[in-house]
Amino acid sequence: MEDCIFCKIVSGEIPSNKIHESDHVYAFMDISPISKGHCLFIPKVHAEKMHEVADETLSEILIMIKQVINAGVFENYNVLQNNGIIAHQEVKHAHWHLIPKEHSDEGLKLEWKPNKEIEQTRIADKIRANLLFEFE
Ligand code: 5GP
Ligand code: ZN
Repeated sequence: MEDCIFCKIVSGEIPSNKIHESDHVYAFMDISPISKGHCLFIPKVHAEKMHEVADETLSEILIMIKQVINAGVFENYNVLQNNGIIAHQEVKHAHWHLIPKEHSDEGLKLEWKPNKEIEQTRIADKIRANLLFEFE
């Protein structure tokens, strides 16, 4: 897609520190890392959000993340995938962050606030009613 930074990285128009590429996936180091080894995995075909990425590509992404974790010998890490502006997605080309965490004071820091007021029953009913699932 025109004017997409990550499409330009895939095509080579913008340089990147590439780790690996397969038929559908491109992996490279993040330009502004929050920990040593922070890297990104993207579909080669432009899609803005995760649910717009083809199933085969999604599988390949997770497998490639796993292989990079093994290659980097990362014991502690977060895999982060943001969708939409209010969910902290800055680049509008779907991407997965692999953020190693060697020390507790580096890498991803989460504010996790459980809220007992949230009502889950109706949304769970809606999901079950609308779910199109290929696996048993
Ligand atoms: P987001 O907040 O959208 O989930 O994260 C986007 C990520 O892309 C950020 O961590 C940012 O550092 C990274 N990024 C943005 N532009 C470039 C670039 O031109 N090259 C590389 N390697 N990473 C980029
Ligand atoms: Zn793109």
